[in-house]
Amino acid sequence: MEALLGNERLKTGLTAAFASGKLSHCYLLAGPPGSGKHTLAKILTAAMECTQGARRPCGSCLQCRKVLDGVHPDVITVDDPAKKTVTVEMIRKARADVYIKPNEGLRKVYIIPRAMDMNPAAQNALLKVIEEPPEYAAFLLLTEGAERLLPTIRSRCVPLQLSPLTEAQGMEALKQRFPEKEREQLREAWTRSEGFLGQAIQLLREGESLPPETLRFADCFARRDKLGLTELLVPLERWKREPLIALLNQWVELLSQALAVRAGQPGRWEAAQRIGRSRTSAESLKALRSLRRAAELLQGNVSPGAVCGALQVWLDITD
Ligand SMILES: [Zn+2]
Repeated sequence: MEALLGNERLKTGLTAAFASGKLSHCYLLAGPPGSGKHTLAKILTAAMECTQGARRPCGSCLQCRKVLDGVHPDVITVDDPAKKTVTVEMIRKARADVYIKPNEGLRKVYIIPRAMDMNPAAQNALLKVIEEPPEYAAFLLLTEGAERLLPTIRSRCVPLQLSPLTEAQGMEALKQRFPEKEREQLREAWTRSEGFLGQAIQLLREGESLPPETLRFADCFARRDKLGLTELLVPLERWKREPLIALLNQWVELLSQALAVRAGQPGRWEAAQRIGRSRTSAESLKALRSLRRAAELLQGNVSPGAVCGALQVWLDITD
C-alpha cells in the first residue's frame, strides 16, 4: 500500500476492506494520467489474490509476488494497444473466459486499463457480466474520468477517485527518483504536472531526450503564452540553418502527435498530450502548417532571422 503515495483517505478505506476481506467484485479507478491508477490496480489485485488473510496484501507470498511481477495467470488485461477503442469483441472474449475457474489464484481479476475507451456496445457487453459475475471474478476499470462511463456501469462499481499529491509529497518523491537533478528542475516539472507524480516523472525523463527549446515551445503553445513564445524565438534567429530546420521539424512532429491525441490515439510525448488536451485540432493544424512553411523557407535559403521573425506572426497563438 505504501507504493501509492498520498491519497490517505482512499487508502484508509481500502485498508479496512482488505483486513475484513470484504472486497467488491467491481472497482472504478478514476484519475488523470500519472495519478497512480496502475499502482492502485496492482495493490487491489494483490489484495484479492494474497493468501495471508488479514495481512493482505502482504507483498511477499507467492500469489502477491506473481501479481506484482505481472505474471499471475489469473490476472487478465483487457486491451489491445494497437486498437483505438476497447472493442465489444475484447469484452466478449473476457466474458467467455470468466466462466473458466481460476488456475491457481483465489480470484480471476480482469483489468481494463482504458475503460473510458469502451464504446457503448462494449460497455453494455461488460454490464451483462458485472451484473451477475461468478463469485471468484473481479473487474478493475481504469478511467481518466468516471463520467466517461455509462451510469449503469458506474452504479455497479465501487468508485476509487485518485487525488493530486501535496507539493511536499511530490517533491520528496522526485528527489528520491532523480537525485542528480537540480531542485529548480524538479520544481518546474512538479508545477507542470498539476500534482500527479507520474506526469512529473515523464516530463523529467522527456527532459533527457527532448531539447529544452521543444519543451518550452510545447509549454508556451499549450498555455497560449505569446510573450514566452517570442522570448523563445528571438534567440533562435542566431541559430545556424541546419539545426534550426531540425528543431522546427521536431515541433512539427510534436503537433502531429497532438493531433493524434485529439483523435483519440495515445501521444508518445507527454508534451504532445498536454497540447492535445488544451488546444483544438484546428489550432494545432494551423501552427503545424506554419512551422512546415518556415522549415521550407529555411531550406530555400531565407535567413534564420527572417524565418523566426515570420514565425512570431504566423504562430499568433492568442486567437
Ligand atoms: Zn500476499
